Amino acid sequence: MKKLALHWKILLGMLFGVLFALALNQFSWGSKFVGDWVKPFGNIFINALKLIAVPLIFASLIKGIAELKDISKLSRMGGRTIGLYLITTVVAVSIGLAVVNIVNPGNTINENTRNQLIESYQGDAGQKISEAEKQKNAGPLQALEDLVPQNLMAAASNNGNMLQVIFFAIFFGIGLILIPEEKSKPVVQFFDGFNEVILKMIDLIMLAAPYGVFALLAALVVEAPSQDLFFALLWYAFCVVFGLMLMIGFYLLLVWIFTKRTPIFFLKGMAPAQLLAFSTSSSAATLPVTMERVEKHLGVEDDVTSFVLPIGATVNMDGTSLYQAVAAVFIAQAFGMDLSLTAQLGIIVTATLASIGSAAVPGAGMVMLVIVLGQAGIPEAGLALIFAIDRPLDMCRTVVNVSGDATVSMLVAKSFGLLKDKDKLNQELTT
Ligand code: ASP
Repeated sequence: MKKLALHWKILLGMLFGVLFALALNQFSWGSKFVGDWVKPFGNIFINALKLIAVPLIFASLIKGIAELKDISKLSRMGGRTIGLYLITTVVAVSIGLAVVNIVNPGNTINENTRNQLIESYQGDAGQKISEAEKQKNAGPLQALEDLVPQNLMAAASNNGNMLQVIFFAIFFGIGLILIPEEKSKPVVQFFDGFNEVILKMIDLIMLAAPYGVFALLAALVVEAPSQDLFFALLWYAFCVVFGLMLMIGFYLLLVWIFTKRTPIFFLKGMAPAQLLAFSTSSSAATLPVTMERVEKHLGVEDDVTSFVLPIGATVNMDGTSLYQAVAAVFIAQAFGMDLSLTAQLGIIVTATLASIGSAAVPGAGMVMLVIVLGQAGIPEAGLALIFAIDRPLDMCRTVVNVSGDATVSMLVAKSFGLLKDKDKLNQELTT
């Protein structure tokens, strides 16, 4: 296995995981065996990646901001980053709406299937709806209020509070720029070294990636729900996946036009992160690898990756917003509702906001979908319709979420002259 590129190793791990689970599924004890003896290794792998996320964001953001050395550059970079994130998200929702309105997947669901789906997944959907309830009851400025932690340790103790950690790191970085250099130098050096250690830890974790994804996929296969209902949702799934593929095409085009890097270059550089996003369904767990790939293989300087990517992993979820748009219209169609143009425009706004509010963990997009449904007047019970197929779609949308962050960091880097040229990159990769 030594000479194989990492993405091939990960792909093989995924493939063997699926085959292994399919083989074991033939035995009555197979699924318990996978649950008891294989799945824990997948969980350990994800835990290790998540473990790295907070210290990585912390160290790399502080180091990145300190290296920018001036506040106006920081605010320009921040403005461009947020602007590009918003634009790509609105494009994603629009693509989702266009596809779902052309294909009309909801019309393939007859009343019988609808009732069957609702009956089977009512309980699961109810759980998501009550999770969303908490968010819905919050006031309009709650998200802003939540941005500022009361206590750093409390914020850092929960991966769901990534934005609070980012807030502290940016604030700390700004403080660091503003103090005299002789005082800030040792602090910057400390975080520089700290960051190196974290990057090495990621390298070490990635040695286990093929085995980790093997375990994750094997567990997913044995836990997959009934296939009949799965097939009823094929057109809906087609719309989501097709839309997501268009979105990847859009990224490749952006990268090609604005940075002159070919689609092959981008895909080859990002493949391990994309495969990991697919296997873990979590942008947060994938973040350490995304950062490493974007920096070392796409050639984005670390001042940009360390700023743009942690923010992107938390707020920029193009795949999620596209999926929310498709799912909302699909559910409306399945209930025989005709959504007006105004309602669909409303979906653009709510899906954009809901994707920003979605946590970077498996299934988060579905919780926030409840809010999109509520705003558009679509029955929330419809969530049960799409439950059966949500996990595979979550895996696909997470790939797009991660790819979108990488695209924006390349564009931001290019606009600041911080994208390494190919020769420098090749030289670094061979040394
Ligand atoms: N799993 C997605 C992510 O981590 C979020 C979601 O759409 O559920 O990016």
